[in-house]
Amino acid sequence: MIARVTLELALGREFDYAVPDEWAGQVAVGSRVEVPLGRRKVLGIVTDLAEASGQVHLKPILRVVGGQALVTPVLLRLARWMAEYYCCPPELALRSVLPEAVRRPEAGWRQRLQVRMVPAQGPLPKLPKRQREVWHVVEERRCLPLTELLELTGASLSTVRRLEDKGLVEIVPQVEERDPYGREQILPTEPLPLNEAQRRALAAIREALDRLCGLQLKPSEESEAREPSAAGAGKEGAALSRTFLLHGVTGSGKTEVYLQAMAAALERGRGAIVLVPEIALTPQTVERFKARFSSGPHRTLVAVLHSHLSAGERHDEWHKIRQGRARIVIGARSAVFAPVQNLGLIIVDEEHEPTYKQEEAPRYHARDVAVLRGQMEGAVVVLGSATPSLESYWNARRGKYRLLVLPERVDQQKMPRVRVVDMRQAARAERGVPVFSPQLREAILQRLEKREQVILFLNRRGYATALQCPRCGYVAQCPNCSVALTYHRAGQHLLCHICGERRPAPSACPNETCRDPAIRYAGLGTQRVEEALQRQFPRARVQRMDSDTLKRKEDYRRILAEFRAGRIDILVGTQMIAKGLHFPNVTLVGIVHADLALHQPDFRAAERTFQLLTQVAGRAGRGEVEGEVIIQSFTPYHPAIQYARRHDFEGFYEQEMEFRAQLEYPPLTRVALVTLRGRNEDKVRFVAEHVRRDLSRRLEGFSELKMTGPAPAPLERAQTYYRYHLMLRTRRMPALSRELGAWLKETTLPEDVHLTVDVDPVSLL
Ligand code: ADP
Ligand code: ZN
Repeated sequence: MIARVTLELALGREFDYAVPDEWAGQVAVGSRVEVPLGRRKVLGIVTDLAEASGQVHLKPILRVVGGQALVTPVLLRLARWMAEYYCCPPELALRSVLPEAVRRPEAGWRQRLQVRMVPAQGPLPKLPKRQREVWHVVEERRCLPLTELLELTGASLSTVRRLEDKGLVEIVPQVEERDPYGREQILPTEPLPLNEAQRRALAAIREALDRLCGLQLKPSEESEAREPSAAGAGKEGAALSRTFLLHGVTGSGKTEVYLQAMAAALERGRGAIVLVPEIALTPQTVERFKARFSSGPHRTLVAVLHSHLSAGERHDEWHKIRQGRARIVIGARSAVFAPVQNLGLIIVDEEHEPTYKQEEAPRYHARDVAVLRGQMEGAVVVLGSATPSLESYWNARRGKYRLLVLPERVDQQKMPRVRVVDMRQAARAERGVPVFSPQLREAILQRLEKREQVILFLNRRGYATALQCPRCGYVAQCPNCSVALTYHRAGQHLLCHICGERRPAPSACPNETCRDPAIRYAGLGTQRVEEALQRQFPRARVQRMDSDTLKRKEDYRRILAEFRAGRIDILVGTQMIAKGLHFPNVTLVGIVHADLALHQPDFRAAERTFQLLTQVAGRAGRGEVEGEVIIQSFTPYHPAIQYARRHDFEGFYEQEMEFRAQLEYPPLTRVALVTLRGRNEDKVRFVAEHVRRDLSRRLEGFSELKMTGPAPAPLERAQTYYRYHLMLRTRRMPALSRELGAWLKETTLPEDVHLTVDVDPVSLL
C-alpha cells in the first residue's frame, strides 16, 4: 500500500511513501505520520491511500503519530480538490481544513487549578488559624478555582499546600472551556408557524434530507461514488440535485426556514453548518441561532467560528465540534470546513456576497466549497439570498439547483416606492452638477419636517474613475470588453483594464449631439455630500459614516445607536450602511450617484449595482410608514437601475445574461485571473508579456479558451507594487486548473516579480 503525504513544510507538493506491513492497520487517511525526507525526519498528514505510485524507490513511513485522525477523510479530499482547482500548494489547502489554533503543538484546552475538598477520614486535625479559615471556605464550596480561593481568603499558596500535605484538600488541574458568548443571557425561542411559501420551502428541504438520510451511505462511499469534477457549475445534471437556492426578498422569513431546516436535520441525527458573511455575524445573529437550540428536543451546543476569536477560543470551539458535542456551527467563510460529525445540512446565507471568496491562497469560494462538500458528505445545501448571484441563479435555471421562492415580506409590508431622477436634466437646469436634485432636496425637507429619518448612500470607493459626461450621461466603453474605460488623469488617456485597449481622452463629449466639454467631471465623495447637507439644511443633524470617520471599532455601533435613538436626522455613508440595518423611522433613502458602482471596470459592475440598489432600497420603510427611495443617475435607463426600481430580479437576470453570453463572461464561462506584481513597472509588464507568450504556447491545443491582456490591473499600483492582469476564460475550468497548476510548478520568475492565480475571482481589481 502507498500513502500520499502532505508534509507540514511549505514544499508545494505531496510525496508518496510505502506503508510497511507493521503499520498497515493503523495508517488511515487523516493520520499524522513521521516520514524521512532526505536525511531528516518530518511530520505530515496522509491525504490519500493508493495501490500504486508513479514514483519508484519509495521510502517507508517511519511511524504513526497519535490516535484519532484530526481531519476526516472528506475534509482531506476537499483540501486536495482545493489545491488542484484553485492552483495552490497542498499544504496551504490543508491549513484551511485544520486551523492553526488546532495544529499548533502548544494548542490545548485551558487548564485551571482547582482546590477540591477530600472527604474527611476521621475528625479534623487541629489547624492553625490561617489554614482553618481556608479549610472552611473549601469545605463550604467543595471545589473552587485556586485563584478565587486565594483572593477570597487572602492566604498564600503555601497555606493551601500545607492543607494538601495533610490530605484535607487536593489541587488538581481541570479543563475550563472558553466560551466567547458565555456571558450572554439567552432566552429560548420556539419555532414560528410558517406561512405558505415558507412551508413549501421547508417541505422540499425536509424531503431532500429524508432522501439523503435514507441512502445511508457512509460519507467515504458517497464521495467515491460521485467524485465531483468542480464546485458550483462543475457537472451537468448531477444525479441528485441537493442543493437548493432559496430566493426570498428581504424580510421574507428565510432565517426562520433555516432554523426549522436545521431542527429537521438534528431530528434525523445529522449536524448543520450555517455560513453568514462576516459583517452579518453580529451577536444578535448568533443569539438567534443559539436561542432556538438552547432548549427543547433539539437542544445542542452551537459553536461559533469567526475571525475575531482568540486562538484558544477557536481551539475549543473546533474540538466541541470534532467531538460531536456541538451539532450546529454558525460562522463566516472558513466555517465551511468545520469538522461536524454526520453533516446533514449546509446553509449559505447571502450567498451572493463577495466576502465568501478568500482573497489569499487558497483562493476558495466558500459557497462553491459548500456545494462540493455537500456532494461529498451526502448533505443538503441551501443557498439563500434576496439577490442571488448570476452563477447560482443560472445553476437553478438549468436544473443543477432547485429553486425555492419566498416572494413576499412576512409582515405584508409593501416594498418601498422607488423613483429614478435623471441627473442630466438637473445638471442642465442648474448649469453644473448639483449634489442633490430638486426632487431629492424636496424629499429630504419633507422628512425633516415630519421628524422622520433619512439615509443617503454614496459608494465612493473609486479605485478607478470612468469618464462620464454630466450632460448626456455618455460613458466611454471598451469596444472589446463592454466594460467602462478608466480615465487616467495624469496621462490624459482612457484605458481598458481587461484587454489593455488605450486611447486618448476626448476633450469634449464624443456624443455627436452633445459635445459638452465638461466631460471630465470628477464626481463627488461622501465628504462633499456632508458639506452640501450642512449648507442646504443647516438645522439638520448630519452624521457621515465611512472608513474615514470610523476610527475605532466602537464607532460603528455608537453611530448606529445614536441614529436609532433619533439623535441623528440624516446618515450619510458608503456601503457599510447598505446592509442588514433595520431602522423603522427611516422613510427615505437617497442614492446620490448610482452610476459610480455601475462603471467600475468589472463585468459584474451591473450585477453589483443591482444588488446594492436592492439592498439599500430595502433599508427604507421597515416601519409603519411606507418607504421611498430616490436614485440619482446620469444613465437612468440603465437596466441595472430600472430593474432595481421595479424590484424585478428575473428581468435583470434575463437581460444581464444576454450580455454575459455575448462576451463570454461567467457564469457562461469561468475565469482564471493571473496577476503579476512588482516594484519596477517595466519589468512587471515585460514578465507579463512573457507569461502570456509562454501560456499561449502551452495551452495551444486547449479548446474553448480565451485569453486577454496583459493589461494594467484597475488597481494599478497598490502599496508601491505595479500590477498587471491576464484573464483566461473557459468552460472547462477543472482542466485549465490542472494545466495552470502544472505550468506553475515548472515556471520560475524573476525574484522581484510575484505571480498569483485566482480561479473564479470575484474582484477584478
Ligand atoms: P429574512 O432572513 O428573509 O430577511 P427573517 O427570517 O429575518 O427574514 O424574518 C424577518 C422577521 O419576520 C423576523 O423578525 C422573523 O422573526 C419574522 N418571521 C419570520 N417568519 C415568520 C412567520 N412565519 N410568522 C411571523 N413572523 C415571522
Ligand atoms: Zn477591453
